[in-house]
Amino acid sequence: MKRSNKLNEEEPPLLDSSHLIDSPTITDINSLKKSLAKKHITLSDKETKNIEEVIKKYPMRISPYYFSLIKEKNDPVWKQCIPDIKEITDTRGEEDPLMEENKIPFLTHRYPDRCLLLISNTCAMYCRFCTRKRKVGELRKNPSMKEIEKAIDYIKEHKEIRDVILSGGDPLLVGDAFLEKVLIALRKIPHIEMIRIGTRVPCVMPERITPKLCRMLKKYNRKPILYINTHFEHPDEITEQTEKACSMLIDSGIQLGNQSVLLKGVNDKPEVFKTLNRKLLSIGVKPYYLYQPDPVKGTFHFIGPVENGIRIIKEDLRGHTSGMAVPHFVIDAPGGGGKIPLIPDYARIQKDGSVKMKNYQDKEFKYPKTR
Ligand SMILES: *Cc1c(COP(=O)(O)O)cnc(C)c1O
Ligand code: SF4
Repeated sequence: MKRSNKLNEEEPPLLDSSHLIDSPTITDINSLKKSLAKKHITLSDKETKNIEEVIKKYPMRISPYYFSLIKEKNDPVWKQCIPDIKEITDTRGEEDPLMEENKIPFLTHRYPDRCLLLISNTCAMYCRFCTRKRKVGELRKNPSMKEIEKAIDYIKEHKEIRDVILSGGDPLLVGDAFLEKVLIALRKIPHIEMIRIGTRVPCVMPERITPKLCRMLKKYNRKPILYINTHFEHPDEITEQTEKACSMLIDSGIQLGNQSVLLKGVNDKPEVFKTLNRKLLSIGVKPYYLYQPDPVKGTFHFIGPVENGIRIIKEDLRGHTSGMAVPHFVIDAPGGGGKIPLIPDYARIQKDGSVKMKNYQDKEFKYPKTR
């Protein structure tokens, strides 16, 4: 396909972004209670009141599929989707510590050659630990056609941008036609080499990965090439359905990565995190990033010590299992400094150029001098 810089007049305009995919979700206390009752789980009056209080401030949305993964109260799936009173009683943190707010709405251009384009403000499920908690779920804040076009104009003018990351909300919560329009518009920009889609859909709404969506993505997965970064947090989230969704994407020629957040009480135990990453690799998903949670207000109960992340990488992953199963552990620096890797202390370079090192078993080794 020939790529030109001009919008083709014959192509229909971008659809209005109210064109979101429509699917049943659990959003209010009554439907939550009804669904829990089917699992023989009941909420006390206090628990009910607490949830009601939280969702006044931070909305609840749970896809029926993700809800089906709950086995019992407070299990790792529950913690990610059911509101916790600590979201409003723990007042530590800021609303936007990463300072993502930008001059161009829905676009964050922080690094020299790549940018983040938010194309939806809705998710299949509102993760309780979400960094964009303050924004996600406000339907009226979904980007309009005009706003996305404006952001794409910015990308057109900035020839240094070669990598566009579609994010949100969840970029797969817009309809196929809408997404296709965005992809078509981006493909017309000659300096774009790759497009990444960051989505939790394969994990929380695997049925959204339809043959039709895959056919569309396959059409557009070269020049620029498409990558999809999924978002799995716990081994219980890897099921027959998610495996099928990932296989369908892989069969469309798309490489899959994964970004996890280190969440207290969810995946911060070495065995759990190792199992998650091994399982991901076994379904064709390459672990990419592990984030220390951002210090966002309403999510502090998910934050554990940074040393724990480094320890998990050093004592349980690197060297102990396939190197491909080891993500980069990073902190997205508050204040907008970008992602900074936290690496266990393995090596000391000496003045003569030799290197004193310790391997994964803490045995000492030496690389000879080279100066
Ligand atoms: C994470 C992020 C990117 C992409 O970073 P990579 O390290 O290339 O994956 C780009 N822009 C913003 C604002 C980000 O937060
Ligand atoms: S899917 Fe992503 S953007 Fe949406 S609530 Fe979860 S973490 Fe936040």
